[in-house]
Amino acid sequence: MGEQKSIVLVTVDCLRADHVGFMGYQYPTTPFLDSLAAESFVFPAAIVAGAPTYYSFPAIMASRYALALGRDVLGLAPDEPTLASVLKQAGYATASFGAANPYISAQFGYDQGFDTFKDFIAGELVPLATEKVDGTGNDWASRLNRRLQKARPAWGTFGRVYDELYFQYCQRVTPVANSLEGLRRFPAADVIVDQACQWLDSVPSPFFLWLHLMDPHSPYYPTEKALALMGHDPVTPFRARYLNSYWNRSDLGPRRLARYREQVTALYDAGIRWVDEQMARLIETLRKSNRWDNCIFVFTADHGEEFLDHGGRYHPPSQLREELIRVPLLLRVPGARKEVVRSPFSLLHLAPTLLDAAQLQIPASFQGRSCWPQVRQRASYDSIAISECVAGCTNPLRQETRLGPRILSVRESRYKLVLHFDPPSEHLYDLEGGPGEQAPLDPAAQKPARRRLLEIAREHLRQSLLSRNKRTRLRARLRDLRLEWARSVPPSSAI
Ligand SMILES: [Zn+2]
Repeated sequence: MGEQKSIVLVTVDCLRADHVGFMGYQYPTTPFLDSLAAESFVFPAAIVAGAPTYYSFPAIMASRYALALGRDVLGLAPDEPTLASVLKQAGYATASFGAANPYISAQFGYDQGFDTFKDFIAGELVPLATEKVDGTGNDWASRLNRRLQKARPAWGTFGRVYDELYFQYCQRVTPVANSLEGLRRFPAADVIVDQACQWLDSVPSPFFLWLHLMDPHSPYYPTEKALALMGHDPVTPFRARYLNSYWNRSDLGPRRLARYREQVTALYDAGIRWVDEQMARLIETLRKSNRWDNCIFVFTADHGEEFLDHGGRYHPPSQLREELIRVPLLLRVPGARKEVVRSPFSLLHLAPTLLDAAQLQIPASFQGRSCWPQVRQRASYDSIAISECVAGCTNPLRQETRLGPRILSVRESRYKLVLHFDPPSEHLYDLEGGPGEQAPLDPAAQKPARRRLLEIAREHLRQSLLSRNKRTRLRARLRDLRLEWARSVPPSSAI
């Protein structure tokens, strides 16, 4: 038995699986984690239970599908058992340090079970829309542009020329910060790891530490040091903002955006490299205090990121492609045999698997189950991964956007079925052969696989309704209503 094992969980926003070294990436984004992978379980097909952040984290923290309590419920329900609350009850010291992602803030229940919860969010929550340098201000050029845009559809080719000129004009006249740091929207990984190390100094074992890092999240403004570590020349703040603004243009199609794809990806990659650097520092701190040898370490992501793989950018809930739902997953458990596990692994099973590895009881409310016995024995486990989201919900802080139609993907090792409900469509992809995800299989092809995955999708939807915990749902809705009410009443009148 020995001493109870501590757990460190690191989640990185927007980190797609194929951009880390231990998953075969060609650039040196993760040299430290690659060395750690040699003594860890690495899951080549770890699949999130939903994307983006708000459809993924209920599964990571509470082993529950995000839509299981209803599409209108966001985040964790009050008193819902979570990885943190179970560990706290078992006597763990618990802390979370997150780089200001509003969707996993205390307002949505993510502080549950944490003695210390710091999310670097000050004031009111604002959605994570990507910045625009597009003259939405009130200067004369912006006003003129708004007027011209109304007539814009009739202009044809000249319209495109105008868009280009106006974009270039805005870039030149809008003042820019004098360093990349001045442009950054979120605290970088070193800030979060500093806080974590300080906290680690102050608590006894066992402990549970959750870090959520935003370095690869758009807008892509890495640290200068990370760019140098990746072997890139320095990028001026003007250039970095130019690339981000260009990448964010809504008037361009994939072909013209592709012009800067590599440069934008290089900025994203440098964000990953900074995370890797800080992981080395965090683990060095644990080693120095003799805690590493008894520490379970998990490194994963809440979803990936699109770089025009299928024409898209960022991580909207619209397609559930592999670049969005497949994430790195590295699990280091001291004393366990290290073998690569090949089957798909849904992050729904992560929390119960961790609790099992730490020899703790799994709450009955968890929808996932422990795969620890199979992972440890290198045996195969039932390998279906379901991911879901609400189409087009890019700002979940607005209630009405949460109620769109669901998108569902059912993925096994080889085949993946993606279901849209409005308008209804059903596409089966062969991930190992032919055009992969570039084109669905002919409706007449692979009928047994199609039938099998459809049946799983149907059962998932049925269970989603049948097993819905009405009391948990009600508590979550009441919490949301209180939040909405608080937002609509100015503080001065709330006496
Ligand atoms: Zn996210």
